[in-house]
Amino acid sequence: MSPTLSSETRRAVAERIRFYNELGVYDFYRRGEPMAMDTLVADLDSRHDQPQSGEEMSPRKTTTVAASVAVEENIFTVIEAKPEQGMSDPAQALKLIREDLGDCKRCPLHKQGRKQIVFGVGNPKAELLFVGEGPGADEDEQGEPFVGRSGQLLTNMIKAMGLSREQVYIANIVKCRPPANRAPEREESETCSPFLMRQIAAIKPKVVVALGATAAKGLLAMSAPMTQLRGRFYDFKPTGARNPDWDGCKLAVTYHPAFLLRDPRQKGEAWKDLQMVMRELGLKAPATGR
Ligand code: URA
Repeated sequence: MSPTLSSETRRAVAERIRFYNELGVYDFYRRGEPMAMDTLVADLDSRHDQPQSGEEMSPRKTTTVAASVAVEENIFTVIEAKPEQGMSDPAQALKLIREDLGDCKRCPLHKQGRKQIVFGVGNPKAELLFVGEGPGADEDEQGEPFVGRSGQLLTNMIKAMGLSREQVYIANIVKCRPPANRAPEREESETCSPFLMRQIAAIKPKVVVALGATAAKGLLAMSAPMTQLRGRFYDFKPTGARNPDWDGCKLAVTYHPAFLLRDPRQKGEAWKDLQMVMRELGLKAPATGR
């Protein structure tokens, strides 16, 4: 497929594919000559407009935000079947995703001073998965997410939930350090996102927690202030996930630990978010011994 599609065409294809994914259709076959993207969009459109006899176009049952690829993802990466799909061992699946990522040079971050790729860390069978923004200097140095000051606070938040870092999984929207700790740019997030989505689909957590607005935007493809994003669950299924045995999970948004370090008064609000997550997971806060 040509990599020079207009963004409008990419968006149209992505939207159509998301629509079909939601109906449980993942494979798109081409007959004869490869189909031009515009033709594919028109073809999918016509199928959309004219349901086959007996085909039920049932209304969406939930408010699932399918981490809409619409404008946020590399469409080619989303369409392709992935080597880990159908694999029952999540550790093995993560290994394949890491291999597929390779020495990634897909976005400009690879030549902006990154020392290494920070893939993600934790339990491949985690019920709880945290997503941050992107590695900072410490993470870039050590190759592990959330090991600096923000990481210490995140570790304490996890402990307060009665869990350890080893029991959860931690990843970021982008896997390479953005220079000067700036927020990842759209192209960088879009390029990295399919790998994060595949990690989440391999782990099949019960709950994903987006740390901060950048993570929320990357996962939910919606931009809103934190006050609007927090305090509720979203139904979430990673884009392109084909797991027939997994309906997706809940996603909650809370403050990024770096923000909590700057404004500790908001820790109580973050704790409310985490308690909501704990209720969902059936967790009780450990006794403090006081
Ligand atoms: N901040 C993030 O968002 N991620 C990290 O891994 C570290 C700090």
